[in-house]
Amino acid sequence: MPGLPFALPRWLLPGLLSALLPGPLAWVGCAFAQAVNGTTPLAVTQVKPGVFVHIGALEDWAPTNGGDVANIGFVVGSRCVAVIDTGGTPSVGQALRAAVERTTPLPVCYVINTHAHPDHLLGNVAFADASRPAPQFVASSRFTHTLAAREPYYLNALQREFGIQLTHVAVVYPTISVDRSLDLDLGDHVLTLQAWPTAHTDNDLTVYDRRTRTLFASDLLFAQHLPALDGSLRGWVSVMAALKRLDVATVVPGHGPVSNDWPAVMDAQADYLNGLLRDTRAAIRNRLTIQQAIDSIGVPPASHWLLTDRFHRRNVTAAYAELEWEDDEPKTPAAPSTAGSSARPARPGGR
Ligand SMILES: [Zn+2]
Repeated sequence: MPGLPFALPRWLLPGLLSALLPGPLAWVGCAFAQAVNGTTPLAVTQVKPGVFVHIGALEDWAPTNGGDVANIGFVVGSRCVAVIDTGGTPSVGQALRAAVERTTPLPVCYVINTHAHPDHLLGNVAFADASRPAPQFVASSRFTHTLAAREPYYLNALQREFGIQLTHVAVVYPTISVDRSLDLDLGDHVLTLQAWPTAHTDNDLTVYDRRTRTLFASDLLFAQHLPALDGSLRGWVSVMAALKRLDVATVVPGHGPVSNDWPAVMDAQADYLNGLLRDTRAAIRNRLTIQQAIDSIGVPPASHWLLTDRFHRRNVTAAYAELEWEDDEPKTPAAPSTAGSSARPARPGGR
């Protein structure tokens, strides 16, 4: 496994996947040609009244797409606007802000970050300039710790791959953190934010607009783009089961097209993650080394995921590391151990 301390070094293979750029997404129909304050607004679609979404390219975070790979958007209330993720560079954030200003004169009162991956947050700075009242920046209570650990790597990558020099002051951290859940009232739209146990990452946050029953699922849901694991495979599988119970009319995945087919839109991801869990456990049980597991665990041939070359082997690596010792995890602390479990021979390829 690469020695990088984070799991989405999307800059390692810039350009390699640009050939996978899909054709124009039919439902992204509302491109604005008119510049606002010199910035061309990002193309957004109103998926429900007051709910606007921009779909990022189904590609790696790379200069070839300007870092515009994550789904981002905003909700316009009667009082103010909430922005949900800001894109992978300051320029994407500026273009999103221009899209907000093209849509409404109301101020942005909240900028919500769904998790601390660079393609979702490096546009924050566009909403933090001193020329107007700063919004509150909102994220999971575990976001700050994770972002602080990774910030130097994100900034290095931004400079190396995109030629963009950003300093610490331009990485905007939350002013409001969410432990479990929080309601934000925009006037006529109340957003319910929920922080989840470790799943895609250790700081996933979803945003649910009660009025339209629209869920911004963050990277807890990938569509078409292969899911990328940077948290806990077991956690993600169990969070999906909880998500399924939500009353959702429209879902915005972190990557991939918007869907009204809830919860069936999660089925492909559930199949992939459950298969990864099953196959990795089997590999460990059969005493395969991590390299043998990587070489032997494939993506189901009938699946149509994009970016499998980029992410699948990484996912197996992360799954193996997570599951390698699960049978040896301490059970109930005070309980005496039962026969059998200690007789297991050491596996090859351990730490
Ligand atoms: Zn992510």
